[in-house]
Amino acid sequence: MQPLIKAALAAVALTLVAAPPAEARRPRHHSVAPAPVPSPPAGPQDIKFAQFIQDFRATALAAGITPATYDLAMSGLHRAASIEALNASQPEFVKPIWSYLDSAVSPTRISDGQRKLAEKAQMLAGIEAKYGVPREILVSIWGNETDYGRGNGEFNIFQALATLAYDGPRAEFGRTELLAALKMLQQEHLDPKQMTSSWAGAFGQLQMLPSTFLKSAVDGDGDGKRDLWHSSADALASAAVEVSSDGWERGHGWGYEVRLPPDFAYEQASGDLLKSIADWSALGVRTIDGRALPADAEQAVIYIPAGRRGPAFLAFNNFKVILKYNNAVSYALAVCTLADQIAGRPGIQAAWPRDEQPLSQDERIAMQNALVKLGYPLEKIDGILGRGTRAQLRLYQKARGLPADGFPTMQLLAAILVEVKQKGL
Ligand code: CA
Repeated sequence: MQPLIKAALAAVALTLVAAPPAEARRPRHHSVAPAPVPSPPAGPQDIKFAQFIQDFRATALAAGITPATYDLAMSGLHRAASIEALNASQPEFVKPIWSYLDSAVSPTRISDGQRKLAEKAQMLAGIEAKYGVPREILVSIWGNETDYGRGNGEFNIFQALATLAYDGPRAEFGRTELLAALKMLQQEHLDPKQMTSSWAGAFGQLQMLPSTFLKSAVDGDGDGKRDLWHSSADALASAAVEVSSDGWERGHGWGYEVRLPPDFAYEQASGDLLKSIADWSALGVRTIDGRALPADAEQAVIYIPAGRRGPAFLAFNNFKVILKYNNAVSYALAVCTLADQIAGRPGIQAAWPRDEQPLSQDERIAMQNALVKLGYPLEKIDGILGRGTRAQLRLYQKARGLPADGFPTMQLLAAILVEVKQKGL
């Protein structure tokens, strides 16, 4: 998987989770066929798209795609304006992690997952034994990606990837994945019209990218085909290969919720600082029930995704492996905590700071600009309060004797703006 691109897509996907659930996104059947709409005349973008389809042929052929395969997939394609809109969108508000988890780990999602775990017990046991990835983690990824196969995406994968590839911010990603999708078509003898995907080219029940298919896909049900759209065994086994090759440690958990002491130095909960369990214990970290941390030879990091007023998590290497599947802490937490609950373990106990208002795009940019003016450099002013901005925010907080949790709140933004004004910056 390509972590940076996955991260960028995850950021967009996350901010678009205000979109309706997978089920609602599926096209409705119209009882009356709509009247045919005449095509508008081709504009400059259409001409650019047609030129791309023609030019990319040489690239594909040089990579071993036959002319027949290329034409089968690519002839007659039009760019998708709806994908271009998604590709260019700048979210006004980023959904807070608690709202994201409310829908990603809903009671229905948990009970559906428990039913899948029971229905497919034998198949899942086989996959778990072979690849070492716990069945509840695989079922949880399945639930998070497509609500257990209910929403595989309804774009044509070649149209989606060609639209990303011909122009715009994901052109390089689109070209790599388009080439991989063509290879997949050629290897697997598929019908290109049946190859559906999300707008970003992820396809099948586990929403794999074509490049990941080429690397990790296996025939889970033994019918001689690798069909990640229709065979849940193929999709789940292929995801297990990917998670395993990303470094999942067999027999080990992802981590668990912890309780931090009131005097905790929050800058240590950056998600990057590895310490031994003994060291975290010595700093006063306890299980959520207040007991001593269970002994473990592996080092761990601590996350506080909603700052010091929200839950805290101790995370091992396996949590980082889930981040490789999709590089957003909210996604990895959804996968890991849904898996826990599918397996009958408790969910998150501590309350989220639901009274915190999310910052708008303008407010996020104002926070970044103000940090830079105060001497906290950032690579980009883009309104994305990711790892870099949060690290600078922690330094800002620490220098002013504030709890350095790096969590951007309205209150913090106000304090930063006041300081900028007072200093005449
Ligand atoms: Ca198969």
